Amino acid sequence: MAGLYLHIPFCKQACHYCDFHFSTSLGLKSRVVDAIIRELELRRDYLGPAVALETIYFGGGTPSLLTAAELGQIFAAIYRHFAVAPGAEITLEANPDDLSAAKLQELRQAGINRLSIGLQSFYEPHLRLMNRAHTAEESTTAVRRAQDAGFENISIDLIYGVPAPGHHVWEADLANAFALGVPHVSAYALTVEPGTAFGHRLQKGTFRAAPDEFVATQFETLLAALRAHGYEQYEISNFCQPGRESRHNANYWRGVPYLGLGPSAHSYDGHNRQFTLANNPQYVAAVLERGEVPVTVDALTATDRANEYLLTALRTARGCDLAHLRAYHGLDLPATRAAYLAGLQASGWARIRGEVLTLTDAGKLLADQITLELFQSPAAAA
Ligand code: SF4
Repeated sequence: MAGLYLHIPFCKQACHYCDFHFSTSLGLKSRVVDAIIRELELRRDYLGPAVALETIYFGGGTPSLLTAAELGQIFAAIYRHFAVAPGAEITLEANPDDLSAAKLQELRQAGINRLSIGLQSFYEPHLRLMNRAHTAEESTTAVRRAQDAGFENISIDLIYGVPAPGHHVWEADLANAFALGVPHVSAYALTVEPGTAFGHRLQKGTFRAAPDEFVATQFETLLAALRAHGYEQYEISNFCQPGRESRHNANYWRGVPYLGLGPSAHSYDGHNRQFTLANNPQYVAAVLERGEVPVTVDALTATDRANEYLLTALRTARGCDLAHLRAYHGLDLPATRAAYLAGLQASGWARIRGEVLTLTDAGKLLADQITLELFQSPAAAA
């Protein structure tokens, strides 16, 4: 089994926090679609022979900007070059302002069976602050409309930690989310990245990020509220009703191979990673004019693999299997980092049951620091 990711690098406008690869100039859209289809042909053997796609994921950017004709062309190419497993999960990321009743019918007819709706908030001033293209009303109506159109497998994205005088907006956002009854929620802390509008405003002193404690309180509220409503936290930022994980993302975290198409997409063949050039005109020229896919290969060392396993496993509910780490990556943490592991447990940040290391709720807030601390350096591994 394997996955296919397609990066659609266009957006109507730039959200002030976003550092993904996208362009707000849509002039090249049809050429990029042509190039993605050509790339699919050029790399059809990347995943090896006789591999069936278990998941297909349209991400971006804003894939809901694709027309019915463009989606149809892409699906025709996918089915021409790949076997698609029965019951494959086929997700499309959509923005609320694109989801008219007619658009939703097009998406269903094209074969999309899961929607990931980037609504982020139900509060108009926060949507304006973040420069989202949709209104608070559309946050709700888009989901309701998708449900009316027959989409049952829906995820919504929420952002917490938006600077505010108190927590009532976040609490209201969560209440609005539960009222929609969707089976999957992804929730991310607002981060201020260099090169984004918020990043520039931070430098100029015209924007201030929320304090860490404020963000931590909202994360704790999120965990408590989602659990109270029957959602499981299967990854630090991802929550679902029982059995409703994103199969595509869960496969990333399990190390299942995937092919990523389009500018800035990543691929993984089970051994090495590849990164496609994040530049729309240069990507189009390389693929369509020269028949070359502009990728950089990142050959993973044994240390990289051990660190990747730690990074992903510690973010998931199943945790880090210390026996697996020892047997497959040659890293014996209980032997080499006994004092640090004991400290994590004494601080209430982690627990070890049998041979499985998991982070507690308090530890999840520190996941990045804890993972970095456990990372192997090439020198240490040698
Ligand atoms: S958050 Fe989504 S819609 Fe906004 S700029 Fe980034 S990719 Fe585009």
